[in-house]
Amino acid sequence: MTILCSFSDLGMQKILPDTSFLAQWRDKIEAVVITHGHEDHIGALPWVVPALDPSTPIYAGGFAMQLIKRRLQEFNLWDGSRMHTLQVRAPFQCGPFEAEPLRVTHSIPDCCGLVLKSEHGTIVHTGDWKIDENPVDGDGFDREYFYELGKENVTLFMSDSTNVLSPGRTTSESDVEQNLVRRVMGHHGKGRVITTQFASNLHRLASVKKAADAAGRKVCFIGMSLNTYLEAAYREGRAPINPKDLVPQSAIDDMDPNELLIVTTGSQGEPRAALNLASRDASHMLKLRNSDLLLYSAKIIPGNDTKVVQMMNRIAEMGPEIAMSRDEGLHTSGHAYKDELEEILRAVKPQHFLPVHGEYSFLCAHAQLGRESGILNTSVIRNGQMLGVYDRRNKNTVSIGSAAMLGEAKLVNFYNDGNKGTGTAAEMSLQQRQHISTEGVVVAAVDVIRDPAVISAVAALSSGKGDSASNTSALQEAARRKLKAKIRITTRAMWTDGGKLLEVLHASAEAALAKLPGDAALSAVERVVGDSLRRAAKQFNNKRPEVIIIGHEADPRMGAAAGAMSKRRSSRTERNAQGKDGDIKSQGSRRSPPRNKNASSQQNIPPRGRRPPGKSGPPPLERLSPDMIDQRKKSNPRDAPSSGNDVEYP
Ligand SMILES: [Zn+2]
Repeated sequence: MTILCSFSDLGMQKILPDTSFLAQWRDKIEAVVITHGHEDHIGALPWVVPALDPSTPIYAGGFAMQLIKRRLQEFNLWDGSRMHTLQVRAPFQCGPFEAEPLRVTHSIPDCCGLVLKSEHGTIVHTGDWKIDENPVDGDGFDREYFYELGKENVTLFMSDSTNVLSPGRTTSESDVEQNLVRRVMGHHGKGRVITTQFASNLHRLASVKKAADAAGRKVCFIGMSLNTYLEAAYREGRAPINPKDLVPQSAIDDMDPNELLIVTTGSQGEPRAALNLASRDASHMLKLRNSDLLLYSAKIIPGNDTKVVQMMNRIAEMGPEIAMSRDEGLHTSGHAYKDELEEILRAVKPQHFLPVHGEYSFLCAHAQLGRESGILNTSVIRNGQMLGVYDRRNKNTVSIGSAAMLGEAKLVNFYNDGNKGTGTAAEMSLQQRQHISTEGVVVAAVDVIRDPAVISAVAALSSGKGDSASNTSALQEAARRKLKAKIRITTRAMWTDGGKLLEVLHASAEAALAKLPGDAALSAVERVVGDSLRRAAKQFNNKRPEVIIIGHEADPRMGAAAGAMSKRRSSRTERNAQGKDGDIKSQGSRRSPPRNKNASSQQNIPPRGRRPPGKSGPPPLERLSPDMIDQRKKSNPRDAPSSGNDVEYP
């Protein structure tokens, strides 16, 4: 549902789905079923729930429901009456579907897949899964049911593609447990043991607890999210540790190091996480010691490599021994490897296969594996694309026309900054954030000091008082004098060569102002100074910084006269364009329009909100309506096109 994003460097914490599609189809959505409590499955609920009909039920396993409750309560969205705790092998009705959860194993407790039966066929969705032959919590993978389903003619099968490129099979959490016990026991009498892991992996926590018990150590948590998951599990009777038995953080310095095992967050080098802070000696709770043993019981998520390696370098320099190589066997994936994927594809033997959960290239590889496993119809679709699948009553009938693309909704990603800020890439100014990070920022405050004759003449002209001819003459005389202004310039995120850049920018702005007439409009001043600063920054170091000009009239009376002045200027510009000479022609005629980069164009910034201006509703669907789907199904499923322009059958 959500993806923890690599946009964190631009201040974003989450990428969220475009829920306008759900809002548009809310009356057709019978239920939302959550297969497990990982953040990428429940993290977007605060945005999904408001898009749904208020009565739409939400189903989840008990542990996931605890996490969902906490999250929705944070957003004041929890409504217990619509929330239902599901049990594996306990079917419930969702509109025309009978839904039955089935147990799968994964890297968090209480995970399920889903069997959806209807008069039009059966759909099986695995959720996230692996086959753990020996799970530490005893909740085994329901292999038997998958084989049973293979005998029941499954119309559509959807399965987790995350590790399709990894050959063989995943190892069991029990194997990791043995390796943890061996390593912790091996540090006996040598000092503290520190482990780092994904906070949601309570199976791993159970193994760490066993290792601590075996070595006579007590467990201490350093990292808030560890407590969040443990408490949710405790409320469900699934906690491997009673939260009351944890050593308080304040007590660790007084304890015998040989009796302590510290569990930390921060395996991905997250800036504010406990281990990362400790690696910078910036944690008041955890000071690393020479005698510590650090067990890295996680994997480096692609994209975090540099951060993690740098963190581990810092820790190594501080002295602790580190165990993190693959040979140590301190981690196993929660997603099935290729041989497990193939086993279940061959067990279910579906008519159609749609790989889900993974990069696009992984989906394609998984579809390929499906074809090699004897599945005739495989499809790969992108977010927003809609696939229609028709049940073949006779399994032996070979038809390539039983799956078809029905349409595509144009969806856009939404981004969340970790607080209230949520919007599209444009609304969250991602391009501008990127631009500033590479090119820098120049801010110039231009205080325009008018000739008193200009001010009084403009004021008199605009009010119609006094002798018009003498006012015009006074203005023309003043306009022939050069514009005076005070300029202050500052830069951010730029190489200044010891301050030389500021001198260059200043000189450039002064030169640009010197060419302006004394009655130049404030907007013209901002534009001309902005252009000159951009040119100067480009010449100085080939940079294109974000340039912000804040123009200001030093004399407040000029503010009142500004409207009249700009009117006068535009009529003169028109005359100039018609071929009459004027005193602003030389500077006005060659200027490009403002580029939305200075203060005078602030009114062009779109209002804050979920949608850009002009897009108040969800994006329209192309080609598809529910009636069209029904009609197409009724007319003749087999006549449906085998592939449209958009469909892919790799
Ligand atoms: Zn998961």
